[in-house]
Amino acid sequence: MHEQRSPNCGPRKNGLTPRLIVLHYTAMQSATGAIDWLCAPEAQVSAHYVIARDGAVTQLVPEDLRAWHAGRGQWGGCWDVNSASIGIELDNDGVSPFAAPLMASLEALLAEMMTRWALGPAQVIGHSDLAPGRKIDPGPRFDWRRLARGGHAIWPSAEDLAATGAVPVDAARFASDLATFGMTHPVDPETRLAALRARFRPGATGPLAEQDMCLAATLARRWPVDPTLGQG
Ligand SMILES: [Zn+2]
Repeated sequence: MHEQRSPNCGPRKNGLTPRLIVLHYTAMQSATGAIDWLCAPEAQVSAHYVIARDGAVTQLVPEDLRAWHAGRGQWGGCWDVNSASIGIELDNDGVSPFAAPLMASLEALLAEMMTRWALGPAQVIGHSDLAPGRKIDPGPRFDWRRLARGGHAIWPSAEDLAATGAVPVDAARFASDLATFGMTHPVDPETRLAALRARFRPGATGPLAEQDMCLAATLARRWPVDPTLGQG
């Protein structure tokens, strides 16, 4: 573990502690460039960790402090996601596959943090989940299924979807099910649908379909967001 301290941080507000882990990609050519940027005072952004494509982990902000990675957004009843989360930047340009050593280091880091802060797999989310439309990282190339197999994220199984059964297309229910899961950020229906698909149905296109309905209902049933999330 390397260390390069970023000045872009402060105390967590309102007694909040890490209840979420938010995954990002750097959208830069190198981890060194990303680390330098996240440590530059004028950047006004940071993250707790950067994981390079060779697997090297650099800590920029101690976990007990509030890093500046989430920005405007919301998850469940939490508006100040920075105060309630740990942010991890993954060295990826947004187009290429995520490197295998990076994924291995991410899994090891998640395992430690989830134990340290008593977090479950549904508490590991993407930046696009909390800021749909404004942010698209970690993007459709990120392997959420792999994280879920290791217990470090969630992924509905075929059995989960079958247990939910058929759900007719209904835009109001879709929005309400996703809000129950945690996607509460107010956005237009197309943006919400695109965010769900980027995370769980990469490549899916077209209008709201029964598969999206079943997926949203399954997420709401199996992994409803903790209603106390935004409270210290
Ligand atoms: Zn991000």
